[in-house]
Amino acid sequence: MPPSTPVITRFAPSPTGFLHIGGARTALFNWLYARAKGGKFLLRIEDTDRSRSSPEATDAIFEGLRWLGLDWDGEAVSQFSRADRHAEVANELLASGNAYRCYSTQEEIAAFREAEKAATRPPLFRSPWRDADPADAPDLPFVVRLRAPREGETTITDVVQGEVTWKNDTLDDLILLRSDGTPTYMLAVVVDDHDMGVTHVIRGDDHLTNSARQTLIYKAMGWPVPVFAHIPLIHGPDGAKLSKRHGALGVEAYREMGYMAEAMRNYLARLGWSHGDDEFFTTAQAVEWFDLDKVGKSPARFDFKKLENLSGQHIRMASNEQLLKEIEEYFAAHNKPPLDETRRELLLQAMDGMKERAKTLPQLIDMGRFILEERPFETDAPAQKVLRNVSQGMLKDLTTRLQHATWTPSDIEASVREFAEENQTGLGKIAQPLRVALTGRTVSPSVFDMMSILGREESLARINDCANSLGTEV
Ligand code: GLU
Repeated sequence: MPPSTPVITRFAPSPTGFLHIGGARTALFNWLYARAKGGKFLLRIEDTDRSRSSPEATDAIFEGLRWLGLDWDGEAVSQFSRADRHAEVANELLASGNAYRCYSTQEEIAAFREAEKAATRPPLFRSPWRDADPADAPDLPFVVRLRAPREGETTITDVVQGEVTWKNDTLDDLILLRSDGTPTYMLAVVVDDHDMGVTHVIRGDDHLTNSARQTLIYKAMGWPVPVFAHIPLIHGPDGAKLSKRHGALGVEAYREMGYMAEAMRNYLARLGWSHGDDEFFTTAQAVEWFDLDKVGKSPARFDFKKLENLSGQHIRMASNEQLLKEIEEYFAAHNKPPLDETRRELLLQAMDGMKERAKTLPQLIDMGRFILEERPFETDAPAQKVLRNVSQGMLKDLTTRLQHATWTPSDIEASVREFAEENQTGLGKIAQPLRVALTGRTVSPSVFDMMSILGREESLARINDCANSLGTEV
């Protein structure tokens, strides 16, 4: 291919369920490659199998890709809508002698295979109609088969797998059109990829043998064969094929769990592709670095821990404004009412402290509970435990002290320290009950930051609520 040919990749999912994690990774690699090379990334919905396709599944694919930020160029192509074009190509192949009508019945085919097996030969069907005189054609239903070469070899040069060769006598005369005139997957994919100008077919290595068979169709049509890159499938951490137990979920499940799309892109890119030792990178870096020569040959292993860690890093690296946007989108997706201006402001102020330890958006939101919830709020069980050794008197005295503190994090801290010293106790013995009083939890951003953000009045009201909930005696 001349170097000036613009790269065109495509993602071609069958809309039979949701966008699963393996499909998302395939889409990402195609998207990254197109964006890295200044090319185009196309989307084709392989909805030819009407009984297994549904509009809901197509929408789930659109939605999953949109959430992941994998924007495709132009309109998505429906494969089903191109059935006439597929038939036209089959007819061209008939006319050029590269295909023939086969009238063999299912029973004849089965009997042929049985006989081959009995003779310990591979059970490949060899149609008697391949060499029959067209004048002998009966008036019966037929399929259209490719007249595939029996001699020689077919080699594909795969960017990931290297050269892979099949002896042509191991490949059968594949069906192009079924007896009802509908195209097979094998024909539709080739015609569509050709017509869409696809230069690089990047897909799971379960399609490797299909590529050999599809190459025969390209050659029969005299069309250029695209570059193939078959990426190893994703396995679970134990090396077994990825299953639901391992995280083989739809991308919407990861969205639901609160992973940011940026973190998902980073994680999915690392499932099979590498750039030196880099684990954490931005999408812009991935676009800059991505190439197919660094896609590994062995299956990538899915590892939730790694995803979590990357996700935490992305949360820490994101700007506070971006995180606020993520929180708002997460709320909207969960039908929660939009945030008011005051809460948005307060969250922005608190974000530095909130993002320190959060690995997912729900964890981040949890750290912002002290802003999101209104008093009086519930105290969870671990927090109640903290309060067991806390006296009402101590909290009341502390409120009195804080009435006069200057209201900055460091001044509030200084006052609480002083108070602790006067009461001959450690800072932690005061700070932890304070945390519980302010949030109802044992984990939160810094107590002094929270108080400064909440303001004196609200902070003291919360401490008072808590004091009132305690008995006078410890
Ligand atoms: N529709 C096929 C699938 O979902 C992919 C076809 C291709 O990428 O060539 O497995």
